[in-house]
Amino acid sequence: MSHSIHKQLVFTVKDRCRVCYTCVRECPVKAIKIINGQAEVINERCIGCGNCTIVCSQGAKVYLKTTDLVDDILATHKKTIAIVAPSFPAEFTEIEDHKKFVGMVKALGFSHVCEVAFGADMVAREYKKLHDDDKGEGYISSDCPAIVFYIEHYHPNLIQSLAPLASPMVAMARIVKEKYGHDAKIVFIGPCVAKKAESNEVDEAITFNELRDYFTQKGITSENITPVPFDPPRAGKGSIFPVSRGLLQTADISEDILSENIIVASGHHKFSEAVSVFESTDDNKPNLELLCCKGCIMGPGMSHGGKRYNRRKSVSYFVKQKLDEMNMDEWQKDIEKYSHINLAQEHNEQDRRLAAPSEEEITKVLHDIGKFSEKDHLNCGACGYASCREHAVAIVQGLAEHEMCLPFTIEKLHQSVNDLNDSNTKLASTRQALKQSEKLASMGQLSAGIAHELNNPLGVITMYSNILKDEAPADAPIRQDLDLIVEQTARCKQIVGGLLNFARKNQVNLSQVNLIDFVKESIKSILKPDNITIDFISELTNPIINIDTDQIMQVLTNLEKNAVEAMSEGGTLTLKLTDDENNICINLSDTGTGISKENMEFVFTPFFTTKGIGKGTGLGLPLVYGIVKMHKGKVDIISNADATQGPTGTTFKISLPRNIEEY
Ligand code: SF4
Ligand code: SF4
Repeated sequence: MSHSIHKQLVFTVKDRCRVCYTCVRECPVKAIKIINGQAEVINERCIGCGNCTIVCSQGAKVYLKTTDLVDDILATHKKTIAIVAPSFPAEFTEIEDHKKFVGMVKALGFSHVCEVAFGADMVAREYKKLHDDDKGEGYISSDCPAIVFYIEHYHPNLIQSLAPLASPMVAMARIVKEKYGHDAKIVFIGPCVAKKAESNEVDEAITFNELRDYFTQKGITSENITPVPFDPPRAGKGSIFPVSRGLLQTADISEDILSENIIVASGHHKFSEAVSVFESTDDNKPNLELLCCKGCIMGPGMSHGGKRYNRRKSVSYFVKQKLDEMNMDEWQKDIEKYSHINLAQEHNEQDRRLAAPSEEEITKVLHDIGKFSEKDHLNCGACGYASCREHAVAIVQGLAEHEMCLPFTIEKLHQSVNDLNDSNTKLASTRQALKQSEKLASMGQLSAGIAHELNNPLGVITMYSNILKDEAPADAPIRQDLDLIVEQTARCKQIVGGLLNFARKNQVNLSQVNLIDFVKESIKSILKPDNITIDFISELTNPIINIDTDQIMQVLTNLEKNAVEAMSEGGTLTLKLTDDENNICINLSDTGTGISKENMEFVFTPFFTTKGIGKGTGLGLPLVYGIVKMHKGKVDIISNADATQGPTGTTFKISLPRNIEEY
């Protein structure tokens, strides 16, 4: 007379689970955990209510099917008794005559088919006695196995309040063994999944859904069998047992009493609430008639989608017909005949409660999922828990994951998208820089070759043209030509010098300088027209930096010169220094004409210039770029050449690492 070993009753079909958390939300005992992106049942916590199998729209939660074991029993034993739950009229509505249904079950090979409802008749008498003897201590009905598991696992302190009575199924198993022999094998057929683990006094339990498949598998229909009545002992009002309040009606407990100290609750939200009320009531506790489902007629072993009202109606119709036709004397005799059978049932504590986490642990998790104040607690329920706090508790207990919090995951996703965008931008700019470097490298090689070849002949031309110029009389017409040759040769030398500068395989010779003094020095070396103002701003916290002073001076003077040339109508050149722990930034802004959008992408291309013929070599900015890169820094340009879009001008931002050797 004890519960059977708690088998694993419910499973997840992994490739069907879409991780929607519906089953987590609807599991009354939070026995479902997200493991590796799948909602898996934790067997030790599961009470077998089967609710998750009903609510999962993907068919990813399935319960244990055992018709093959029933097949074995039928093949190996002669005395096999099917005991059928009284909710069968709610499931097999298409079979008008219940005798046809009984005939179909018998056709599977059972020697007898009996009604669990007679067990309910017997148990109801015991409940009546309990109720009559009640001294305000209250009891919790024990006919629903999921409720019994719930109390045993999660409210073990209430074990003594569980009615010490067998369920109608177990009662009927004891009765049919008494009647047909203790060697009989008993198979329960009903709407319930938890029955499969309720008691080892029943050899197997299958659901009505399994029975339907079994009929199909064996080719049994209501047309190819012989209708037969249930085998005795036959039930009376116990047949109304599966609908809510069925026990009360079966036990003939009046509605007056019912409204005062009996709480009837079915469905997982209601039964757990009723248990909480019971637990917190000290005196005159109510009696609880609890069902985990919304009545056994809505059990997980019934076909999905049936309407409760219609099912209730089908059971009531069957019971009415039955009571009209039943032989009351025979029923009464059977009740007396089996009243000596012990219908007691022990219940055992099997505490599965988890330790409550500390406030610190809960707060830490709440912070981890971005809940820092009450207003961050959206309590949206998307995670499957009623509140953010409950979710945090479940995370600490190892039942849930941070990612189940939808707002948190969305936030993380946004963050990832932003990070990806940043990476893309960096990648694009690195690619651009790489292209530029390659271009500069090949231009450099070419330039170096040409410059070396031109340098010597240019030197010869310069020397001989100067000699000729010195030898020519001051008023000779050829002197003007010679002046032009000397001037243009000097210009060619300047270009070649620029080319060599650009092409040389530079190494940086670092020395430590005070950048404030250094930049001020650079300003002194440019020719500044009167219509140009120079502003110098330093926001440096530490002006000391390691640079190649010759090269960076070249960078600054180049940019300053360009800025002055861009402001032919006058303007302001602003030099602003900023820094952080690792980098120093030199910002050079002019209020000049700006660089047009079309020209922006070519500014670092060697020999590209917008200056007039003879005014620029197009090597200044590529040189700037090369030097800054050699310092492991970067150059950014912001420019506007369109006065309709705002003030025109250009800003060069040169960022240099404070100590390039660390890079
Ligand atoms: S209800 Fe549960 S098992 Fe079904 S898809 Fe959602 S998370 Fe997966
Ligand atoms: S059968 Fe019930 S208790 Fe078990 S996991 Fe599913 S909903 Fe939870």
